[in-house]
Amino acid sequence: MLNGIHFLLTYTCNFECDHCFLYCSPWSKGTFTISQVTRVLDEARKIGTVEWIFFEGGEPFLFYPLLLESVRRAAERGFKVGIVTNAYGAISEEDAELWLKPLAEAGLSYLAVSNDQYHYGEASETPAMIAHRTAQRLGLDTEPICIEAPEVIQNSNDVDKGQPVVGGGPMFRGRAVEKLADGLPLRPWQDLHECPYEELESPSRVHVDAFGHVQVCQGISIGNMWDVPLSKIITDYQPEAHPVCGPLIRGGPAELSRACGRTPAPGYIDECHLCFLTRKAAIEQYPQALAPRQVYGLE
Ligand code: SF4
Repeated sequence: MLNGIHFLLTYTCNFECDHCFLYCSPWSKGTFTISQVTRVLDEARKIGTVEWIFFEGGEPFLFYPLLLESVRRAAERGFKVGIVTNAYGAISEEDAELWLKPLAEAGLSYLAVSNDQYHYGEASETPAMIAHRTAQRLGLDTEPICIEAPEVIQNSNDVDKGQPVVGGGPMFRGRAVEKLADGLPLRPWQDLHECPYEELESPSRVHVDAFGHVQVCQGISIGNMWDVPLSKIITDYQPEAHPVCGPLIRGGPAELSRACGRTPAPGYIDECHLCFLTRKAAIEQYPQALAPRQVYGLE
């Protein structure tokens, strides 16, 4: 049951992190207008099961007036509202309050701040920490998000017990595949037979972008909400019939690779690594389902 709509309010970001699974950067295009945000919020109401609206990116604070009004309009419609940000503007608690207090007054309930070495190196005091403290003081529910560097650990599963695998760290999709994959241990592609993270049969959340793509995982679109209303896309979604979700549900990235007629390499770091590279290679086969191209690093 769909519980959350996550707006990729913009693909533009002040950072260009190695682990970003959307390939965001200062040059990335694709920002909602306020009328598009409103249209999606009204559609979200029609769905009837959506409780949470998130605004993320990219970096949503880059378009602060749009963000503030979007939070207000979402809260007015009765949604709980969250933001995911790197909090770059929180250079002191007083400054953080300038950004956060109007959002709290507009109806924001939850703030997640990206606070890790990919965003802020080894700095001991970061804007994210300052924003986190300030949000607590303002009475917001708030959490840091910290992505560690990839760590090689011993496999504890019965199959291949003792073999080195990668634990924790970034997801191996998007720019992480290009920047962080080298030298890490690989698993046989046949073992990667289920999607470990997304509920593709009945998503509890979807991401939506300014190009209209409704994504069940970043870069897997189940429809374009500028062509078909979002509420209808959600109602009509038939996961088994979707050319990418169907194989993923039946047998994970390994089955997707077979369904796309690809010959995989012998090994991949994890499920997302095989899934992302298979999808990127198949993008011309399924241009509607594998979109937008820029999250594959292709534009
Ligand atoms: S396996 Fe594919 S669909 Fe599942 S979370 Fe990883 S990238 Fe997304």
